[in-house]
Amino acid sequence: MDPEMEDLVQLRGRTASAAIMGGTFDPIHYGHLVAAEAARVKFQLDKVFFVPNRQPPHKKDYQVTAAKHRYQMTVLATITNPHFYVSRIELDRPAPSYTIDTLRSVKELLGSKTQVFFISGADAILDILTWKDVDEVMEMCYFIAATRPGYRLEELGRRLGYLLKKYSHKVFCVEVPALAISSTDIRERVTQNRPIKYLLPESVENYIYKYELYKRAGSTLKTHVAQELKGNEVKD
Ligand code: ATP
Ligand code: MG
Repeated sequence: MDPEMEDLVQLRGRTASAAIMGGTFDPIHYGHLVAAEAARVKFQLDKVFFVPNRQPPHKKDYQVTAAKHRYQMTVLATITNPHFYVSRIELDRPAPSYTIDTLRSVKELLGSKTQVFFISGADAILDILTWKDVDEVMEMCYFIAATRPGYRLEELGRRLGYLLKKYSHKVFCVEVPALAISSTDIRERVTQNRPIKYLLPESVENYIYKYELYKRAGSTLKTHVAQELKGNEVKD
């Protein structure tokens, strides 16, 4: 049997399963949503909790958008999926956000019969090496790493070294076709008045324009609309 399938069989018999999809979601986009949905389907997850973080420990090089906006965009983006939920757990706790604290709270909330998964992009799982209490985190949950098509666990293994050797039975992969989308790219596009259509749900796109997020100081919704209408001046 495919070793990945063997691991999946081990998970059978669980009463319920839930996953945490942590992130800054500044803004949430189709990469996040496709990854979460692919993981939900593959691992038959009952619920996926999107958990926007307050101040990511590793992300201090730019001004993260107000928690209120990131939370509301995450709610808008997930509203159409009956399995998706948004949790304020990290937003309501003083910064910085540590995964270990979130896992402890979620496990307490869901009870011992619920199997907990943590969904992350293959890039973020590499950051795990620097997470607080990594051994305890790995003991508490299963990891689902969203990878590019063709970028399998072996490649992660090469890069994660000892950690994956120790926890290979707890880390699974799911292939996601929309991996090239990133919040950084979306923020830059908005700042440069370039289109973001089809990279994220329309409701989130409209929210960004309504609250003029990611705009350079002095740039307004009016100038964005003018640029869009002019067409020939819009890059891409
Ligand atoms: P930024 O560019 O600001 O870092 P991001 O697009 O990476 O934003 P995050 O909020 O940092 O988004 O990511 C939250 C989680 O979603 C991380 O685990 C990240 O690896 C994962 N992720 C982000 N983009 C994708 C994508 N396109 N496909 C799959 N997973 C993704
Ligand atoms: Mg990121």
